[in-house]
Amino acid sequence: MSHVLTLNAGSSSLKFGFFRLNGTVEDPDPRIVGSIERIGAGERAHIKAKRQDGFVLIDQEFGRNHVPDHDTALARAVEFLKEQRPQAKLDAVGHRVVHGGPDYDEPVELTQTVMDRLAQFEPLAPLHQPHNLAGARAALKLFPEAVQLACFDTAFHRNHPWVNDTFAIPRKYYDQGVRRYGFHGLSYQYISETLREVAPHLHMGRTVVAHLGNGASMCGLMGGRSVASTMGFSALDGLPMGTRCGQLDPGVLLYMLMNEGMTPAEIEDELYRKSGLLGLSGLSNDMRTLEAAGTEEARQAIDYFVFRIRRELGGLVAALGGISTMVFCGGIGENSALIREKVCAGMGWIGMELDETRNMRNERIISTDFSRVRILIIPTDEEIVIARAARDMLARRAETAA
Ligand code: ADP
Repeated sequence: MSHVLTLNAGSSSLKFGFFRLNGTVEDPDPRIVGSIERIGAGERAHIKAKRQDGFVLIDQEFGRNHVPDHDTALARAVEFLKEQRPQAKLDAVGHRVVHGGPDYDEPVELTQTVMDRLAQFEPLAPLHQPHNLAGARAALKLFPEAVQLACFDTAFHRNHPWVNDTFAIPRKYYDQGVRRYGFHGLSYQYISETLREVAPHLHMGRTVVAHLGNGASMCGLMGGRSVASTMGFSALDGLPMGTRCGQLDPGVLLYMLMNEGMTPAEIEDELYRKSGLLGLSGLSNDMRTLEAAGTEEARQAIDYFVFRIRRELGGLVAALGGISTMVFCGGIGENSALIREKVCAGMGWIGMELDETRNMRNERIISTDFSRVRILIIPTDEEIVIARAARDMLARRAETAA
């Protein structure tokens, strides 16, 4: 029996999935999914994992400093999986890699040359890319026999029309790779594939997806393909996020450099780690904390988050030439009735009408029966997208070898 391990490394977390493959066509079976959160020196990391039927296999805190980095986190995750499935043979390890640059519009096998190329994009996604690649290096050592592949968050957006791929700066930068890449592509691919399966008529139409988590972006889909995204060159643009600023006048960067005398490293830290909901509220990057806080600053942070989503929604509807479906996903999109209600309030002019009760209950369809635009909640699943890519890559290799 073939198995696939999926790894998704964030700045302080590692999500893992252990899938059984059932041939080359059927969906991989998620046997165990879990995560290690709060990786870092001086932290108490936490491992959680569930079986497919929801049974909790582990939910445990490590001692302080026991998981200081991603290498250790991967070793801990693998130890745990080996205890659970001592006999399982691992055929592939699929890695989420945030940035694939201009070259990759589909998953690719990770070789040393590919790893070197991907390391060049580390400055464009400093919260993720270095950790994604560290995870890949560690997995290459641990599982030298398994096929290792990278699945990119940028790949789903690589066929954007030129006007959505460029900035109005001298053309040499475009040629150097300074482009609007867009991110969260694995999530958007999952939403697109799910729509195709459960509602093919909606999949054919114009869809705006709001992926609202700690990282947040929105994507316009036409017939299931990405046409426009709110994120650009780096994972900073577009919506404000937990700790990232979102859209920013580049003049602000010049001000920080020239008037505040900040170094590039200080600016990077300010915009990636101290801005967004955290910077505005002065309290937290976590939406649950902000919703419960009731302070003026927390309310303002939420208001700004919602305002930018509504502005981008209008822009994406214009880019698509209309809208037939709106999808919410990500930790906030899937769970926060308050944010969804605020985003949809007064959007009747584009045909969106939210059903309050369905929204409060986090139902799959949350629009009224009369709403022209269907509003949906679809819990996203980046892991299964990676597992499917691994299945397909193994199938292609087997075909070539035959
Ligand atoms: P990541 O981008 O790290 O994968 P998630 O998609 O897990 O993030 O989203 C995390 C965000 O979702 C946090 O801001 C968290 O507060 C928010 N969230 C989760 N559950 C709820 C809830 N019930 N109400 C409001 N926000 C929530």
